Amino acid sequence: MVDALHPSVVKPQPPTLRCDRCRDVFGQPFSDFFYRDANGPFGWRRWCKACYSEAPSIKRRNAERAAGRVGGAGEAA
Ligand SMILES: [Zn+2]
Repeated sequence: MVDALHPSVVKPQPPTLRCDRCRDVFGQPFSDFFYRDANGPFGWRRWCKACYSEAPSIKRRNAERAAGRVGGAGEAA
């Protein structure tokens, strides 16, 4: 249940992190500005939360989720 941070997953953190999309630079705590991504450069996604919320693909996903597609076990088409 607890999605704790495994010690092996923790990567060295830079003092600041730059968003690949808007080029804004953010300081700690990164969790305020970035979503976690174990495959990301420092364990964070390349885009900040604001950019993700603006991305068309994310907007579509959110719209689908809001429309009731929560399970994600496959399309019912
Ligand atoms: Zn951004």
